[in-house]
Amino acid sequence: MKKVIPLVAERRAAPPFQGGKVVDTRGRPMRDLRISVTDRCNFRCVYCMPREVFDAHHEFLPHSAILTFEEIARLARIFVGLGVEKIRLTGGEPLVRRELHRLVALLDELGVEITLTTNGSLLAKQVRNLKAAGLDRVTVSLDSLDDATFKAMNDADYPVAKVIEAIEAAAAEGLPVKINTVVKRGVNDQDIVRMAERWRGSGHIVRFIEYMDVGSSNGWVMDDVVPSAEVVRRISARWPLEPIGANYPGEVAERWRYVDGAGEIGVISSVTQAFCSSCNRMRLSTEGSLFTCLFAQSGHDLKSLLRAGASDEQIRNEIAAVWQRRDDRYSEIRTAATAKQRKVEMSYIGG
Ligand code: SAM
Repeated sequence: MKKVIPLVAERRAAPPFQGGKVVDTRGRPMRDLRISVTDRCNFRCVYCMPREVFDAHHEFLPHSAILTFEEIARLARIFVGLGVEKIRLTGGEPLVRRELHRLVALLDELGVEITLTTNGSLLAKQVRNLKAAGLDRVTVSLDSLDDATFKAMNDADYPVAKVIEAIEAAAAEGLPVKINTVVKRGVNDQDIVRMAERWRGSGHIVRFIEYMDVGSSNGWVMDDVVPSAEVVRRISARWPLEPIGANYPGEVAERWRYVDGAGEIGVISSVTQAFCSSCNRMRLSTEGSLFTCLFAQSGHDLKSLLRAGASDEQIRNEIAAVWQRRDDRYSEIRTAATAKQRKVEMSYIGG
């Protein structure tokens, strides 16, 4: 972490919790906060916001329902007081929210790591302001290097070259870049090795993500999942890989490095190797609800409390109580039947 932050005990005025950290019923601390700043996106990725569902009739949240930057920053400060060390801004597409750099500047005051996940389409224009405001790193999603495949997946006619331009613009600003690639069998799995080749030696880390049954609209079936073990096997057959340790407890991606020293890749295996036991992520939805699992069916309304004039201490106690009651472990108990359950959409809850 680049910034010096006060000790947890100093940050918490009236600690209502014993032993320092707030932990859930499975002993997991809260460390990462993902904030969805908008439920809107300019892409219609078939595995996330399929156009048939997110069409002209889909009702996105009205402006009055979404948290303001000041409200988000106030909540974020409270989360940091409860142990959060890293904040990821996401959505929807976070950069469709106007002047996102203003939020980054407010969050920068908290002294924790600030990251952003984006489809890259609006990044090149905004990256200088975001970096100047305090953004520490960025993750850009790119599912294929083949235009036809990529366009079929983003369903917005968006070309690969523009995303690569955004990645280069971010790197030119000195931001560490990761690249997220969701792998769907029969759709883009033929590109795995090519993708690895493109980013080998570039300093950017590509992370292959198993296609997940998030939300209720993507028609997920297990047969579409390419297990991470297969991804590693395919890349390793060309350039041998070896596993390396996590950067910090609860890191989502499993890290593998090229034996020849050309850098590393990551794999995110939520389906075939659930990592619920170390999950330390809390999610704040666009309209201010708390979600303790990406696969949740409902959240906990914080916005009402916030807008009813609650004190920081009341809000802190509410957040802590939600975390302390948490016992989710969806990916460990996933079956074909649970995959059909009505879950909150990823674009709303934040990816
Ligand atoms: N719009 C931004 C973007 O494209 O990166 C941020 C939000 S998006 C929901 C965050 C990440 O979730 C992206 O990398 C996306 O590819 C990934 N994602 C979305 N749906 C997914 C699914 N069903 N399985 C696995 N990853 C998914």
